[in-house]
Amino acid sequence: MTTLTPSEKALVPFVSVDNMMKLVHHIGIEPMLRGLAEYIEADFRRWELFDKTPRVASHSAEGVIELMPTSDGEVYGFKYVNGHPKNTADGLQTVTAFGLLANVGNGYPVLLSEMTVLTALRTAATSAMVAKYLAPKGADTMAMIGNGAQSEFQSMAMKAICGIKTVRLYDTDPAATAKAARNLSGLGLDVVACTSAEESMEGAQIITTCTADKQYATILTDNMVGAGVHINAIGGDCPGKTELAPAILHRADIFVEYPEQTRIEGEIQQLDADHPVTQMWEVINGTVKGRTSPEQITLFDSVGFAIEDFSALRYVRDNINGTDLFIDLDLLADPDDPRDLFGMVQRAAPA
Ligand code: NAD
Repeated sequence: MTTLTPSEKALVPFVSVDNMMKLVHHIGIEPMLRGLAEYIEADFRRWELFDKTPRVASHSAEGVIELMPTSDGEVYGFKYVNGHPKNTADGLQTVTAFGLLANVGNGYPVLLSEMTVLTALRTAATSAMVAKYLAPKGADTMAMIGNGAQSEFQSMAMKAICGIKTVRLYDTDPAATAKAARNLSGLGLDVVACTSAEESMEGAQIITTCTADKQYATILTDNMVGAGVHINAIGGDCPGKTELAPAILHRADIFVEYPEQTRIEGEIQQLDADHPVTQMWEVINGTVKGRTSPEQITLFDSVGFAIEDFSALRYVRDNINGTDLFIDLDLLADPDDPRDLFGMVQRAAPA
């Protein structure tokens, strides 16, 4: 057992991938997704006090590397994340990430964590937290289009938080669908493997698109989407990378995280810059309505925002306390005399 008390050497707790996986099993995947959703929802409620900026993106022909900072005035956080759709063909993850929390008062980091697994968890928790407000009443079936790394997390969060019972899987690569079906078996969902996007959408009130392609793709065409569904669009999250036909966007009521970032990266990059969108934090606060009729098409144009990562890191910090699921990193030079950095280096000379 270790505690997160300040140590003499200003050591920084670090959560490795191995320890993050242990934390998932220690808490349980569904309670952890629910816990993350609660933290994210709590931070959406205090949205206005956060320091917010669209993420800082460095684009290349192959993908993007991004930094996502925010602060609530007491704690600062950032995530480093990449998105490289071609990576899976080389046996690499499309998305990898790590992140940090720091004390605003003295600038010292208080947590460093892997965030590849945590991003999948927080993205899924955010999707389900939003669907709780927007999906039609009694929704029990989700189409899951794109069966890559995020897909099982998305499915489990919709089960844990929205109570869906059936997930209908589709991917252009049948091996991805087979993998997701295998991973989800025995976890309390009815899992149906489908051979087309249309088939996956039969009877689904929630449609999740979570594909990866660095282009304006059309995963859903206008005629595929009927009235009264909630679309959870996850994969369009970069300039030039979208999943939905523009006509769907004109029929849907669109809900976003942070409009300044979503207009650059989300499905709505295909629309005029003044096309009306609703911010989710206002729905959660009750100042703006979410779903207003059973026939309405609601669309969560998710791109992933820094506050969700901040919430996820807060959750990890609170939940590793008192466990041995982290190691202390000697990350900060912290001489006894703060002005004697050079002397500290000299004293470290080999005898
Ligand atoms: P992944 O590469 O592991 O999986 C993507 C899957 O999509 C693959 O199995 C691929 O075969 C499938 N696919 C590609 N084109 C398709 C099509 N036309 N129809 C059906 N399936 C298709 O990627 P991942 O880690 O699961 O991420 C999926 C997407 O989600 C990426 O675009 C990623 O950038 C995005 N993402 C968004 C957020 C967010 O917060 N919004 C967070 C994480 C990831």
